[in-house]
Amino acid sequence: MTETGTPMIRMAAVDKHFGELHVLKDINLEVAAGQVVVVLGPSGSGKSTLCRTINRLEPIDGGEIAIDGKALPAEGKALAGLRADVGMVFQSFNLFAHKTILENVMLAPTKVRRQNKAEAEKNAMRLLERVGIANQKDKYPAQLSGGQQQRVAIARALAMGPKVMLFDEPTSALDPEMVNEVLDVMTTLAKEGMTMLVVTHEMGFARRAAHRVIFMADGEIVEDATPDDFFTNPTSDRAKDFLGKIL
Ligand code: ADP
Ligand code: MG
Repeated sequence: MTETGTPMIRMAAVDKHFGELHVLKDINLEVAAGQVVVVLGPSGSGKSTLCRTINRLEPIDGGEIAIDGKALPAEGKALAGLRADVGMVFQSFNLFAHKTILENVMLAPTKVRRQNKAEAEKNAMRLLERVGIANQKDKYPAQLSGGQQQRVAIARALAMGPKVMLFDEPTSALDPEMVNEVLDVMTTLAKEGMTMLVVTHEMGFARRAAHRVIFMADGEIVEDATPDDFFTNPTSDRAKDFLGKIL
């Protein structure tokens, strides 16, 4: 919570369908400022959809989502502003192939935030240094490893000055030896107090960095616990079954 007690992310009675499929069922979730929440659950349980609704990449059918106390509007300029408050990093890095690393990080701040170039470049360089990749700034995405590209994607999301960062399986597409360099950047970000919602299968990260674990199954939040409690004492059969398969 902030001093005023307003949660950074608030989802109240959120419902979402894809045609017949009820993909999010009465989701109620509050994430306090500075809290790191890891979202676990089997494939198809609705984890990606949850992230995408928070960023309004997907509309919802019912309920409410608010970021730092401001309800997400359906569309228009206000939506663009609020969307900028929520940074998102995907499994596929989605960098612009024909732009350099530096240009990738500068693009949204200059186009959307209307920062001047000098200011955007200074900020971008600071962020590239933070993710340990400033020396690659003039290269193109294809010249970087997957781990490096994902770190650029994190810098790019941070360049908008988001209040919340969503990560949807950010290391799932990486070769194993590159997973830690990305998790390290995320762990640092968490320690610095960023509010984060992280879908991941990296249980080490969940134990180390998460304040809370949310377990989803069939579009519902089935468990909401500390990592310690969740891993040692899952209460639902579905969570026990899930943990039995992955641990
Ligand atoms: P997870 O990320 O937990 O694997 P998703 O949120 O991607 O789950 O998907 C939840 C369910 O919604 C799945 O059954 C999936 O097939 C379905 N789904 C996801 N996106 C769409 C879409 N754009 N149109 C129709 N069905 C979708
Ligand atoms: Mg997914």
